[in-house]
Amino acid sequence: MTEIEGQVKGEQLDPEQQARRRLALAQIRQYPDTALKLAARPVEEFDDDLRRLAERMKQLMVDANGIGLAATQVGVLQRLFVFQVADDEIAALANPEIVELSEVTTVDDEGCLSIQGVLVPVERPTTIVIVGRDEHGAEVRYELDEQHSRVAQHEIDHLDGVLILDRTTPEARREALGNLRPRIVIG
Ligand SMILES: [Zn+2]
Repeated sequence: MTEIEGQVKGEQLDPEQQARRRLALAQIRQYPDTALKLAARPVEEFDDDLRRLAERMKQLMVDANGIGLAATQVGVLQRLFVFQVADDEIAALANPEIVELSEVTTVDDEGCLSIQGVLVPVERPTTIVIVGRDEHGAEVRYELDEQHSRVAQHEIDHLDGVLILDRTTPEARREALGNLRPRIVIG
């Protein structure tokens, strides 16, 4: 069974998958890395460099057992993210813009590949319509609901330097930071 927790899938991994996941996570910026607080700039060149970046991010996301990854999480300040847009499809989206969002919101626990071991409740619009460009520069538009909508909003937040710790309740934030502190001191 795959239980999806925000940006991170919670499922049993065999030893090889675990090793692959550790290697991928080592290439993903971890809180409190300052790159995670910076806003990314619009993508201007849809060239081979961008497509290589998108491919690398898709592979890292899969290896890390994630369902979304933003360029800022690999230290690249470009408005690009990859995410699981459907159960069997991973897409790259550049210069994303939410053009419609539902008034109805949902609260659900979210994790983040850059804040390991933390799950906090985040309230978000339940459905969105998002537009942008794929890695070849073609215009794309997605109507997203449930988990796919949540992940896309999580990734756009990353491109603005916003983390789930900034989106959750003060209580959950305090508790999460309390859990993170010993890790940071130990290294
Ligand atoms: Zn994240």
